[in-house]
Amino acid sequence: MAKLIDMHCDTITELYDRRVKKASTDTLRKNSLHIDLDKLKKGNYMLQNFAIFQSLKKHENMFEDSIKYIDYFYQEMEANKDLVSVVRTYDDIIKNEKEGKLSALLTLEEGAEAEGKLEFLRTFYRLGVRMITLTWNYENGIGYPNFHYEEGKTPDMKSRNTIDGLTEFGISFVEEMERLGIIIDVSHLSDAGFYDVLRYTKKPFVASHSNALNCCNCCRNLTDDMIRRLSERGGVTGINFCPSFLDEVPIAEERKAYASIDKMISHIKHLKKIGGIQCIGLGTDFDGIDGDLEIKDASYMQMLVDSLEKAGFTSTEIDAICHNNVLRVYKEILR
Ligand SMILES: [Zn+2]
Repeated sequence: MAKLIDMHCDTITELYDRRVKKASTDTLRKNSLHIDLDKLKKGNYMLQNFAIFQSLKKHENMFEDSIKYIDYFYQEMEANKDLVSVVRTYDDIIKNEKEGKLSALLTLEEGAEAEGKLEFLRTFYRLGVRMITLTWNYENGIGYPNFHYEEGKTPDMKSRNTIDGLTEFGISFVEEMERLGIIIDVSHLSDAGFYDVLRYTKKPFVASHSNALNCCNCCRNLTDDMIRRLSERGGVTGINFCPSFLDEVPIAEERKAYASIDKMISHIKHLKKIGGIQCIGLGTDFDGIDGDLEIKDASYMQMLVDSLEKAGFTSTEIDAICHNNVLRVYKEILR
């Protein structure tokens, strides 16, 4: 058993949308999704990041709508305070751990929720947001993703945008995030944007849910050079369980991608070889992905730990991957 920190899931958005649109009675405590509080307890979690995700094409008032999701997040925290508590600083995490409580860290997956306003960014900080994924799959006034996304169409996931990085506003956005103490997340961002983040920031940052491109040629994954630079900066990338980010299916094979534990371990081994053990974390993307998953939900996460042991990883290495590397970044940024 190893304690777990997961840097990315879409559970709050999914739950809120179900409740509003389908009048569902699912709660964070118990539901049929990948993540609920019971499953996190069974899986031996220390901390779960909860992202507020919104598609730019589906919401006209991104800031106002994000407040509704954040309010729902806090209602769930209040209703489940016997099990879980929100964290804003590293010390909060340690305190929860001592009290035997789960920690929840509030994040945004789409920088456009701040609607191009630094005063909204600062307001998010005051509301407890401690990590922001700069872009999702659309250009958003902060930067560009790697591929062109259109609802209903199959995107070219092998393209890489090495030209369009952060905008002028994007640069002031990341500078203000660093000053405030919000962790910069480069998952979804173009390759050019990744290098702009390196250029315009000084502190460690993360790719909260991205794998190794060398093991699966998908533009949501990191090139070897990006892995090296991220690691040199003290950052971490979180292993994403999305089948098509783990498993590249040769055209001739005509099968569906499968998120097997073996594939996860080959990505982890490659990340270790290129960036060292210190740059590896977890970012499951639970409740934001579907397809064939060997680890069916959060309650089964110790299967990954057992397989890492069998693959020859030491207990120190397993603790590094499962929680210590991410804790190191949180300790440095979340003061
Ligand atoms: Zn994502």
